[in-house]
Amino acid sequence: MTSFADLTTIGVGGHIARFIEPTSRVGVIEAVEDADSKGLPLCVIGGGSNLLVADGPFNGVVVRDARRQITVPDEAAPVENGERIVHVNAEAGCNWDDFVAFTVELGLEGVEGLSGIPGTVGASVVQNIGAYGQEVAGAVESVEAWDRRDKRTLNIAAADMGFGYRMSALKTSMYQAPAVPAGEFFPTPRYVVLSVTFALRHSATGTVGYGQLAKALGVEVCDRMETAAIRNAVLKVRAAKGMLEDAARYLQPAMAGTKRDVNVRIALEAQRRQLAAGADTPVVRDPDRHSCGSFFMNPVLPADAADRLPQDAPRFPATLPDGTAGVKTSAAWLIDHAGFHKGFKVDESSPAGLSTLHALALTNRGDAAASDIAALAHAVQDGVEAAFGVRLVPEPVVVGMDLR
Ligand SMILES: Cc1cc2nc3c(=O)[nH]c(=O)nc-3n(C[C@H](O)[C@H](O)[C@H](O)COP(=O)(O)OP(=O)(O)OC[C@H]3O[C@@H](n4cnc5c(N)ncnc54)[C@H](O)[C@@H]3O)c2cc1C
Repeated sequence: MTSFADLTTIGVGGHIARFIEPTSRVGVIEAVEDADSKGLPLCVIGGGSNLLVADGPFNGVVVRDARRQITVPDEAAPVENGERIVHVNAEAGCNWDDFVAFTVELGLEGVEGLSGIPGTVGASVVQNIGAYGQEVAGAVESVEAWDRRDKRTLNIAAADMGFGYRMSALKTSMYQAPAVPAGEFFPTPRYVVLSVTFALRHSATGTVGYGQLAKALGVEVCDRMETAAIRNAVLKVRAAKGMLEDAARYLQPAMAGTKRDVNVRIALEAQRRQLAAGADTPVVRDPDRHSCGSFFMNPVLPADAADRLPQDAPRFPATLPDGTAGVKTSAAWLIDHAGFHKGFKVDESSPAGLSTLHALALTNRGDAAASDIAALAHAVQDGVEAAFGVRLVPEPVVVGMDLR
């Protein structure tokens, strides 16, 4: 029987009553509609890289879209605002980094900074993935989705997606307040993504949008570089922080075929070299990568709450959910300055701990259960709140547990 532990990057979570992998568009819609019409809990899963599921059985249906095709519908790149724009469509089940590699090879600019983010194209628009100065929102033209409430397919233009920091209208449909699920559409949004159409610029170069990346490339922020060079630098910077998934997961039966073989081989080889394993060790597992990535959102605070933070806490201009001006601070800074350093564990024997490379990643360092990860998350939340009066909100979708 398949379990969430088999399907998620953090490797925890209970058995799944029914796991379906539809191979057609109508098959995806039918699987979702069948579960909804029977009132069964439904989880549409992609790469399982933003999911933390409880240890008990999931008495519902888990649907994983097995369609992974990428197509380029434009016969010739149309000129829009003086730039050559190429539209690329990817089915929801397509591995995100397979998609990025494809666009870079095709000479397109727009998502190279998002190299190495685990997961699928379908989920990329749910939380508007972002890294190194890019967000997927900047490259999306439209999203084809199944509306579970009105029971119809629709095309949602990027302008109507409600994109914000790690936010979209899809994610909004899942919550009534931060980390508080909305009963009807949780843990999967009202709109199930079927495919995404991207509008990318025809250009072999891209903009270096982030200081750390510029440093790794030896250039200045806003300089232009080959997109392939940006992609390689992003992958290296991410690897050094454990912010790539463990490529060895694709050798497990439950994940086989979900990422292109050639890209799995490249990722395994890079992982082997990073961990300095001998050539006779073909598969090296990396516990620092058994995570959900950044576990907590960077808090966006009203100005008066931000004023109460220590002088040296990072502060960036941001927008509060009600549209007014706020201040974004760094969850990693708060965690570290509250005394939770890299490698922290609730107790030394616990199989769950903060990554040894990044204080913001909660990791499964062996045979952790979801309850071990939850205990670690609570310890960090309570400690940060006691130190700074800020309650951190988890970034992953937390199913069957309360991590408020
Ligand atoms: C090591 C690591 C590094 C990471 N780095 C980053 C980063 O730099 N930036 C960033 O933004 N995120 C990052 N993440 C988080 C994660 O990779 C993204 O959120 C990713 O988009 C999740 O994709 P997924 O397919 O794995 O989604 P899942 O974890 O499978 O699902 C997440 C949510 O999306 C929903 N969903 C999945 N597919 C669909 C669909 N077709 N239609 C509707 N809803 C759907 C699920 O129901 C669930 O609610 C990182 C994660 C890890 C493990």
